Amino acid sequence: MTAAMSLRVEGVTKHYRAGGLTVKAVDGLDIEIEAGTSVAIVGPSGCGKSTLLGMLGGLERPSSGRIWLDGTEISSLPEAERARIRRESIGFVFQSYDLLPFLTAQENIEFQQALNGENGSGTNGKSDHEADLIKRLGLSEHATKFPDQLSGGQRQRVGIARALAHGPRLILGDEPTGELDSETSASVLDLLLEAQETTGATLVVVTHDADVAERLGRVVTLRDGKVVSDRSAVRRA
Ligand code: ADP
Repeated sequence: MTAAMSLRVEGVTKHYRAGGLTVKAVDGLDIEIEAGTSVAIVGPSGCGKSTLLGMLGGLERPSSGRIWLDGTEISSLPEAERARIRRESIGFVFQSYDLLPFLTAQENIEFQQALNGENGSGTNGKSDHEADLIKRLGLSEHATKFPDQLSGGQRQRVGIARALAHGPRLILGDEPTGELDSETSASVLDLLLEAQETTGATLVVVTHDADVAERLGRVVTLRDGKVVSDRSAVRRA
């Protein structure tokens, strides 16, 4: 089991200059997320959810304030260091699955591990963990297919398998169920929660879907870049 990451957001702002105006996408956030917990970030469109998630994952740096992943202050690290942490420790699941069209499902899943310089150790060059993921995600029949031969739900599963293949300590989802019907959406969430529970990773999901949010352990609501509510949710089976 991989050790989960804790997150600490301290006085974080993110301002953008747009057409001579300053947009306060994130406006003074303080959030602590314990290792191994699951959190939904919700709020109306434009309230700063994606901007926050991008900063948690080290894709962007705050304008001011600090973000720690465990004891590492990721917000002050140069891009090369942040890229290393992203590759090694974070799994991103996006609404648009961003699969590479010229790679098969399995090659897409292996892509992140290849970036980490890891070679599979199991049969056929695949790691046992990866083979298990492909099976659990119901992708065994589809591993050699290309993205345009897969349904939307199957592409999302490949995206999830890719995000989990390297055993991330932090899983970040940006509207991971955004374009899915409610049944597929529920099963994608099942997979994320199962992955979180079996690996012990920390899970943070941005969503506008109340059904998705309620299934995570805690719901943080943003408005105009600020936290307006933070409560533990009652998990539904
Ligand atoms: P949400 O994910 O809650 O919909 P975002 O984090 O995408 O919100 O955006 C928050 C605010 O910041 C919005 O007003 C958006 O227009 C603005 N914003 C986000 N990214 C940029 C950018 N790169 N340049 C300028 N403004 C941006």
